[in-house]
Amino acid sequence: MTQSITILGSTGSVGKSTLAVLDLHRDLFKIEALTANTDVASLFEQCCQYKPRVAVMADDAAAEQLAVQLKDAGQTDVEVRAGHAALIDVAGSPNSSSVMAAIVGAAGLLPTLEAVKAGKRVLIANKEPLVMTGSLFMREAEASKALVLPIDSEHNAIFQSLPDDQNKAGVARLHLTASGGPFRGRSWDSLSEITPEQACAHPNWSMGQKISVDSATMMNKGLELIEASALFAMPAQKVDIVVHPQSIIHSLVEYLDGSFLAQLGAPDMRIPIAHALSWPQRIASGAQTLSLFDVARLDFQAPDMANLPCLRLARSAAEQQGAAPAVLNAANEVAVAAFLERRIPFTRIPRVIETALEQLASLDFSSVDEVLKIDNEARQVAVSALD
Ligand code: NAD
Ligand code: MG
Repeated sequence: MTQSITILGSTGSVGKSTLAVLDLHRDLFKIEALTANTDVASLFEQCCQYKPRVAVMADDAAAEQLAVQLKDAGQTDVEVRAGHAALIDVAGSPNSSSVMAAIVGAAGLLPTLEAVKAGKRVLIANKEPLVMTGSLFMREAEASKALVLPIDSEHNAIFQSLPDDQNKAGVARLHLTASGGPFRGRSWDSLSEITPEQACAHPNWSMGQKISVDSATMMNKGLELIEASALFAMPAQKVDIVVHPQSIIHSLVEYLDGSFLAQLGAPDMRIPIAHALSWPQRIASGAQTLSLFDVARLDFQAPDMANLPCLRLARSAAEQQGAAPAVLNAANEVAVAAFLERRIPFTRIPRVIETALEQLASLDFSSVDEVLKIDNEARQVAVSALD
């Protein structure tokens, strides 16, 4: 049966990798909607190539431009919609059975939740909504019987290494692998002059700018720790982080009997994407097969916590729970954006986050509206901590 799929954030790194996998399986998938923020040129090209029924631009002016360009090109079958409300509407629309959540940041929260509430197959790359809402997100999925499939390579690896029924009774611990990013082995204090270009040059993965900076500070692994704890209902204390520079083992599950199960593969997002698109079947991803002889060796190290302030803050927020993860996430988004705009030095990022946590981490929430309010407050505190 053909799956009808909507890709939220189709012009980004994960969005494009998703389309690359779909290219290999046009008979299995029908594209219902493609969405982007402001990148008119990319969404225009994708509309001409994939002819989705709907295209949404979160930005109103960008949507107007897209509509004109599509009309001029004779692509009148694509319905163009504008704004965040349209994004949410399309995510929950019964016209698609699957949604790839590949927006970056908190902007993806409401659209992703809408897809979850509609009980769809939801492929989660966009980790920030899970970090912000944690168990509330998973409770919504349980209530609607949505099928939540992780795309983040570590979480996809854990999903693949858990028993088929995802029963965690025999699981002792989860081990998330981390490449260590571009500054592995450097002391934190030596990084004050790091530029956005240097921070975004990841040794193993090609990704969007925000997650690339998160990988350089290792906040990405901290967000992933919180994400893993929510997705797999594991206390953060039972989720370990292991630095594995080759990025070949994507994560491991340790069982009570001493067995470790892991998933290995080339560092290529098309692999977890293909896995989640076709689960429980398997389809080709287009990624290169791993040559074990070329890999030859796999190294593992404990993270150097003394030089990883962002990971320390994230671990403490993960253990504290309540609103701490949402505050951490919001302040991190503000700090990373300011660093990318060259407004603050790289090493200031954790200081901004710490300030927001000091003021707001003790808050708690019981609804999405409350999380959004806390997210907003944390952004305000973070903005004032920039100067
Ligand atoms: P990206 O910056 O390359 O793409 C982001 C997409 O979201 C774009 O299509 C953009 O138009 C859209 N977008 C941005 N802001 C928006 C807004 N305010 N409203 C609506 N749409 C908006 O990011 P990416 O690297 O593809 O990452 C996407 C998500 O997947 C992130 O949460 C990231 O942490 C996660 N992820 C990415 C990778 C990777 O390899 N890139 C791996 C694991 C997880
Ligand atoms: Mg990851």
